[in-house]
Amino acid sequence: MIKGIKQYFSFFIFLLAVTLGFFVNKTETQIKASARYYNSLPKVIIDPGHGGFDGGAVAFDGTNEKDINLKIAKKLETVLRFYGFSTVMTRTSDMAINDSGEKIRSQKKSDMYNRLQFMEKNRDAVFISIHLNKYTTSAASGAQTFYSDNFPESKTLADEIQKSIAALLEPYNKRVIKKGTSDAFLLYNAKTPAVIVECGFLSNRRDLEQLKSDDFQRKMAFAIANGVINFY
Ligand SMILES: [Zn+2]
Repeated sequence: MIKGIKQYFSFFIFLLAVTLGFFVNKTETQIKASARYYNSLPKVIIDPGHGGFDGGAVAFDGTNEKDINLKIAKKLETVLRFYGFSTVMTRTSDMAINDSGEKIRSQKKSDMYNRLQFMEKNRDAVFISIHLNKYTTSAASGAQTFYSDNFPESKTLADEIQKSIAALLEPYNKRVIKKGTSDAFLLYNAKTPAVIVECGFLSNRRDLEQLKSDDFQRKMAFAIANGVINFY
């Protein structure tokens, strides 16, 4: 327990040092470049993928993607708020956010549309959607960040998040950021800079065990937050 707390704090202090170092080193030009999204307190829309009737991907042991997405998203909210960011959550409990509809298909459509509305209403924010991956073979592992092509800032944000995860949490992770296709509705229709962080593979044993652990979820949240800080 004590060891856990020590590790937690040393990780936290390390992040703080990285962050402070970053702000000190940041040049005036870099700050101007991101000024558009830095009017007052930077705002981040955090979108825990799926929820309610839509469980997302399911691991072989029955773990639902939607539950881990929410846990990581809530931890991300806590860290970002600590750093002074303003945050908006698309959901805070196990629910979809659709308007009432009869068929699952129209409910899913409505859910996606309502998530998009968060961007519509918060044009000064950046949008971070939290998901988990699943593949047909168990070998694929590691987090991967996808970005919207609608704003050039999306790619920069994805790059910072991916770099941060690899540097702080997954040194073995060689994955590169990818542009979201038209299948990724929220990225394709994004109204603000937007990324999806696939935090790991439910189909990989190591990833699954990590993703279920509170400690890993917290570290993943810190790593994503660190990427956001580097973006601003
Ligand atoms: Zn998902």
